[in-house]
Amino acid sequence: MRNPSLWAGLLGVDGAIVEGVEMAGDELVVRVRLRRGKSRFCGVCGKRSRLYDKGEGRRRWRALDLGSTKCYLEAEAPRVDCREHGVRVVQVTWADHDARTTRSFDDQVGWLAVHCNRSAVSELMRVSWRTVGWILARVSDRLRRDTDQLAGLCRIGIDEISFRRGHKYLIVVVDLDTGRLVWAAEGRDDKTLRKFFIELGEERCALITHVSADAGSWIPPAVQFSCPNAVRCMDPFHVVQWATQALDEVRSEVWRAARRDGNKQDATDIRRARWALWKGGDNLSDSQQAKLDWIEKTNEPLYRAYLLKEQLRLVFQLPGEQGLTLLDEWIEWAENSGLKPFARVAGTINFHRRAIQNALTHGISNAKTEGLNTRIRLLTRRSFGFHSAAPLIGLAMLCFGGFRPRLPGRG
Ligand SMILES: [Zn+2]
Repeated sequence: MRNPSLWAGLLGVDGAIVEGVEMAGDELVVRVRLRRGKSRFCGVCGKRSRLYDKGEGRRRWRALDLGSTKCYLEAEAPRVDCREHGVRVVQVTWADHDARTTRSFDDQVGWLAVHCNRSAVSELMRVSWRTVGWILARVSDRLRRDTDQLAGLCRIGIDEISFRRGHKYLIVVVDLDTGRLVWAAEGRDDKTLRKFFIELGEERCALITHVSADAGSWIPPAVQFSCPNAVRCMDPFHVVQWATQALDEVRSEVWRAARRDGNKQDATDIRRARWALWKGGDNLSDSQQAKLDWIEKTNEPLYRAYLLKEQLRLVFQLPGEQGLTLLDEWIEWAENSGLKPFARVAGTINFHRRAIQNALTHGISNAKTEGLNTRIRLLTRRSFGFHSAAPLIGLAMLCFGGFRPRLPGRG
């Protein structure tokens, strides 16, 4: 074996000795072994343990390609007897426990998944999307362990997000000051949310000043119990969502009426304007703007509904007092709009008035979280093909958490 250290450097395997390199078919297999002294640690916790046996023979790990050739590391995988975890495979320096790929490989997949679409990741790395999912969960867990994601939290937003076409849910916790995702877990119940507060710890729970959430949900009781000093605020995202749903009801009603009256063209145009109505604001394309202009000219109630929705969005973009004044005006306008769905929203807002007022006076704005909620929801669409929540959580943390995956070997 010539130049084992050159090979170790090329492959990024610190703490290992390269024993041999050979081609097996069109794949490169690199035989390595752990340095003496590195071969006695538990694969799960990394604590020094007693050597148990030789294990079940040699193991292989997929490593980064060398050029265009697939590359594997191969090594003995002895077992240790850990005081805490029992008999486990020894810790290796080049891969995470139970992984079939090296850490460099994992890191590259993590980086690509954040920056590229799913077929690009799978094709380039020659792994299935499902495998990508497991790798993402692993990379994200490792980065989460290395940094304290829950440090310095004061104002948080809690929300539930559905995936698997609404059959499953995630709880997500967002830092409202930095706009980053700090915690996520599968579930939509009190018990799961309490896990977050347990992880945060009593002392840091007491430092939470504001919690923004959907006031009608199961979230407030757990918050009240765990964060005694927090002001509870209504998540503006949900308030605006009520108006968006009301707008959709008005649109459906107008569409049904057009069909009833035999105005086929109008019905089609109304159907096509859905996205423009939903999106609104300043970011409309020319054709979307044209659709809105057409609605303004031809369909006054639907246009009024659109304006009501946009105005409510504006409420949460204005600073405290101005927002409150506009909210009062909005409620009056909605009540007298002649549009039943909006009159109902006005009633709901009155019911949750206290929490909404808190959001406005304490400056819990929509700016940072509205975007994040939407982007996490978009991510759930990319997660088809993942077989559990862990890969989705991993991907969400890698995209929106306080850390980013690094390309291997770039320091
Ligand atoms: Zn252990």
